[in-house]
Amino acid sequence: MSRNNSFAQLVEDLMALPGIGEKSATRLAIHIVRSPGNYAFNLARAIHEAKAKLGICRLCQDLTEADLCGICSNDHRDTTTLCVVEEPASVEAVEKSGQYRGLYHILHGHLSPLHSIGPDDLRLDQLKERLRNDATIQEVILALNSNPEGEATTLYIKEFLQELPIRVTRIATGVPVGGHVQYTDPMTLARALSSRQELGA
Ligand code: ZN
Repeated sequence: MSRNNSFAQLVEDLMALPGIGEKSATRLAIHIVRSPGNYAFNLARAIHEAKAKLGICRLCQDLTEADLCGICSNDHRDTTTLCVVEEPASVEAVEKSGQYRGLYHILHGHLSPLHSIGPDDLRLDQLKERLRNDATIQEVILALNSNPEGEATTLYIKEFLQELPIRVTRIATGVPVGGHVQYTDPMTLARALSSRQELGA
């Protein structure tokens, strides 16, 4: 692909997105440049604005336009429980379950030796720091994806938090094996949360 070619550049940039190979990138690029009206310019502006405005919440690490996100700054949340999830999209899913009123912590990924993602690449130090500084948090609920990476990350965090006097649980059997929290239906997720299990020493 020539770098001088604007179409080839668009395809290359789209291929940098997760799960997008050359075929999909080419299809999307054709769709974008052929789209009628201002769609392509609006898309470019939306990406630019989101990138310029969005930052990371000081406490939970979720995406936010303010110093603290809407959940962390909400006085009506239960501040004694902290639900740890892999991605911002999982927060949406847990909220939709209607079963949880506590706070969150977003890791922004999972352990994956295959992709050279280690503990330092996740927001784990921020998690420990937060638990050390906030004595009101009594329980940490691990709501990670039900696949080998999520499992490895769950076990790692259990060890990582062992020195702290905090109850660590994980969401139960409800999330299907291999399933992603963000794609689990609200009812199933609600059951998985209410029948969560101890992660004892
Ligand atoms: Zn927050």
